[in-house]
Amino acid sequence: MELSDLERQRYKKHLQLESIGVEGQLKLKHGRVLVIGAGGLGSPVLIYLAAAGVGNLSILDDDLVTLSNLPRQVIHITNKIGTPKVNSAWERLEQMNPEISFRPIQERLQPANAESIISGHQVVVDCTDNLDARLLINETCVKASIPFVYGAVFEYEGQVSVFDAKRGPCLRCMLPEQLSAGTIPNPENHGLLSTVPGVIGLLQAAEVIKLLTGIGDTLVGVLALYDALAVNLTKIRIAKRENCPVCGTAA
Ligand SMILES: [Zn+2]
Repeated sequence: MELSDLERQRYKKHLQLESIGVEGQLKLKHGRVLVIGAGGLGSPVLIYLAAAGVGNLSILDDDLVTLSNLPRQVIHITNKIGTPKVNSAWERLEQMNPEISFRPIQERLQPANAESIISGHQVVVDCTDNLDARLLINETCVKASIPFVYGAVFEYEGQVSVFDAKRGPCLRCMLPEQLSAGTIPNPENHGLLSTVPGVIGLLQAAEVIKLLTGIGDTLVGVLALYDALAVNLTKIRIAKRENCPVCGTAA
């Protein structure tokens, strides 16, 4: 399949990049990406992936838009308060780029539906805000051999990584066994600088584009830490654990 004249015009700046070009843009067009969460991280991820021409975007969220979402969740607008986030996001994205095929899924990710929702995608983007969902995404992606782009935010800081158990550690390799949802701060009780999920979401979107096109060095085995107050972006290595209960030899 080729790019149409309109697509060549729309994606001109990507086509001018030597490492992307028509071939890379076609890879994006055929890309199948699942974004889990249409909130603070999901907003920039969805907006930029749709704008950049990722051809097949699934959006999973079971929440409704609220007033206090709007300072960060920039895909949603004021007159969508009270409506499902997947519908609000879908409508906005279709206006932005009608070339893309969207699949809104108004469900919560659970052990019973995770496998069927995740399968068939090339890349999963974790835009959730809780550990239980992240661990479920991790386990399901390891089983299905699908890479997932992790992002998390807290107050003035955020972090990003790519977990692909075929090539590096998984999320569980990075987290001690005793860590559970009850032992980490609940985001409901903490503030958040509105721009932090924007920065982290864009780093996640860039990793998705790199994974689909095969360009650059991805964050496999690396955790990038962002601090908005000090304006620092630090990278630390994450090792694969042989005894990891999810991706280790025993598993
Ligand atoms: Zn692991």
